[in-house]
Amino acid sequence: MIKHICAIGMLSICTVPAFAQQTQGDPKKTEVWEPVPVMVTPGKTPTAAPADAIVLFDGKNLNQWQAKKGGAAKWKLEPDGAMTVVKGTGDIMTKQGFGSCQLHIEWRTPAKVESEGQGRGNSGIFLMGRYELQILDSYNNRTYSNGQAGSLYKQHIPLVNASKKPGEWQVYDVVFTAPSFFSDGNMATPAKFTVFHNGVLIQNNVELKGNTVYIGQPFYEAHSNKEPIILQDHGNPLSFRNIWIREL
Ligand code: MG
Repeated sequence: MIKHICAIGMLSICTVPAFAQQTQGDPKKTEVWEPVPVMVTPGKTPTAAPADAIVLFDGKNLNQWQAKKGGAAKWKLEPDGAMTVVKGTGDIMTKQGFGSCQLHIEWRTPAKVESEGQGRGNSGIFLMGRYELQILDSYNNRTYSNGQAGSLYKQHIPLVNASKKPGEWQVYDVVFTAPSFFSDGNMATPAKFTVFHNGVLIQNNVELKGNTVYIGQPFYEAHSNKEPIILQDHGNPLSFRNIWIREL
């Protein structure tokens, strides 16, 4: 997960403002291993974009995306309508900024299971470039509960584990409320997430304590009311498809 630090540290060269990160200390101190969310077998099929949505990815091109480190997004466009992380090309982010929104995104962890814990099928969706909804292969893959699939990384454990098997398409439907800030930069109202994983409620209007951090305690830093959405290259060949958003 060290990439969180590297990646966020590079934001200063993008459209996202830089913010301080704690890079000292023990990341294990913020791992929470209990309770373990119970497994729930999902039953829902994915949803096509409604008429008023902004389509961020429909399988045809990466026109809505760019590399976070600059230049074109270098993830691989697949013949089946997906795009796949190309290890080492880095995170990608939307060209457009978004604040409060409804987001639909489908993702697939590799069918070939390699590694374990945080090393298995890891990616993530960073709303406003800094609030991570974790993506992980959490099908029979124990890790700290506040770092498994559907966690708001190191802040909120999912209510249940609605994970599908490796290699199967999965869905997040997210309702995100952007935080607001006073003119002095202090947080006025926190970021909030409601998340459905494969149609199952896993986060119920939870409040974030601040930016996602790997080490130490989260904290807020003021930012504009629209920021890009980032998808994480954590080194695993995750695929994505059917990504659409409705601004709220
Ligand atoms: Mg991640």
